[in-house]
Amino acid sequence: MIVVGLGGMGSAVAAHLATRGRRVLGLDRFTPPHDRGSSHGRSRIIRQLYFEGAGYVPLVQRAYELWEILQRDTRRDLLTVTGGLVIGPPDGEVVVGALASARQHGLAHQVLDSEDVASRFAALRVQAGHLAVYEEAAGILVPEACVAGHLEMAARRGAELRTGEKVNDWRVARGGGVVVSTTSGVEAAEQLVVAAGAWSGDVIASPVPLQVERQFVGWLRPTARPELFRPDRLPWFYADRGEDPPLYGIPDLAGDGVKVAFDHAGVTVSPDDVPAVRSDEMDELVAASTAYLPRLNGASGVATTCLYTNTPDGHFVVGRPPESPEVMLVTGFSGHGFKFCPVIGEVVTDLVVEGGTAFDVSAFAPSRTLPTSPGTT
Ligand SMILES: Cc1cc2nc3c(=O)[nH]c(=O)nc-3n(C[C@H](O)[C@H](O)[C@H](O)COP(=O)(O)OP(=O)(O)OC[C@H]3O[C@@H](n4cnc5c(N)ncnc54)[C@H](O)[C@@H]3O)c2cc1C
Repeated sequence: MIVVGLGGMGSAVAAHLATRGRRVLGLDRFTPPHDRGSSHGRSRIIRQLYFEGAGYVPLVQRAYELWEILQRDTRRDLLTVTGGLVIGPPDGEVVVGALASARQHGLAHQVLDSEDVASRFAALRVQAGHLAVYEEAAGILVPEACVAGHLEMAARRGAELRTGEKVNDWRVARGGGVVVSTTSGVEAAEQLVVAAGAWSGDVIASPVPLQVERQFVGWLRPTARPELFRPDRLPWFYADRGEDPPLYGIPDLAGDGVKVAFDHAGVTVSPDDVPAVRSDEMDELVAASTAYLPRLNGASGVATTCLYTNTPDGHFVVGRPPESPEVMLVTGFSGHGFKFCPVIGEVVTDLVVEGGTAFDVSAFAPSRTLPTSPGTT
């Protein structure tokens, strides 16, 4: 097997394929973990309350188990349980969707009003009339450590991993399998896994249209009482702001500030040409954040960009494109994929080794029917 891309998903796929005895060659144009794609920025939310669709819950539950195993096997700190809050109007799709997933899967949660939030989490304010759904088991993953952990696991199980080597092209071999041309030479394999994130469309034409969206995130410092922003006093939050783009905040895990960002408020870009963060957009982010975290107006100035690879329906692309049965396409994670990396690694391995998986991944089929109007999650 050749795995193109060793970021969040490709590293997990390589690790799981190698664990199940497959010979794996993993290739990446950069040296993961790196900050050019989608798997950097020191934190990723993991949660079971899934407003994007209750069908994701069994997958994230398995992902929790697999992150735990990876954490133990590699002796790395990957996951911190902080609790998490999804906030919004009671009839908004985030709160309604989170509660629907909780009901369907019997997930533990608490519904808080603005006064409950202020008394439990001193740094946080929620506007009167909005609700906050609290999930105690929710947490934060460290993406760079997760990628490094999966690469370590893959290498230990015998995968050959080559970085700084770009896949330029591939073709179906005459006798079956694929031939891959890279910046260093030519390789042959039975099958190809394309997990090239924002660059996936350069490697293979995806049957599901992919849009690369620039995001930016900032780390802000409180003006007083920094202890109120630590993970033992502040959960992460994700706020549905109606007409305005959602805003999320992640507690200060490592003493480097509270991470804040808008979700899906970005512009379409080429992954090879991503404009740097501007001061006017940071000002807008600080203003929006202080509505929820009023003491958080000491901007630290640290900010970075990151890329979403969006599909029209916001669901992932995992499976074989009908035109290219020798390829497993693993992309289109639409800004909410990281938490699933290990279970996607397991699912892809099931599909390659067993020809099927116990998980329902029909929503991710490359050949699925798509909505006619564009949209994301
Ligand atoms: C700001 C931000 C916040 C997010 N927050 C969350 C969150 O809280 N929770 C969550 O679950 N998800 C979140 N996500 C989404 C999640 O991070 C992504 O879905 C996930 O990282 C995608 O991983 P990937 O492997 O597809 O892409 P990447 O990790 O970018 O990996 C793709 C790899 O392919 C390599 N590559 C590309 N082309 C080639 C080639 N031709 N040859 C060789 N190698 C190649 C690249 O170098 C790269 O290493 C967030 C994303 C962003 C940007």
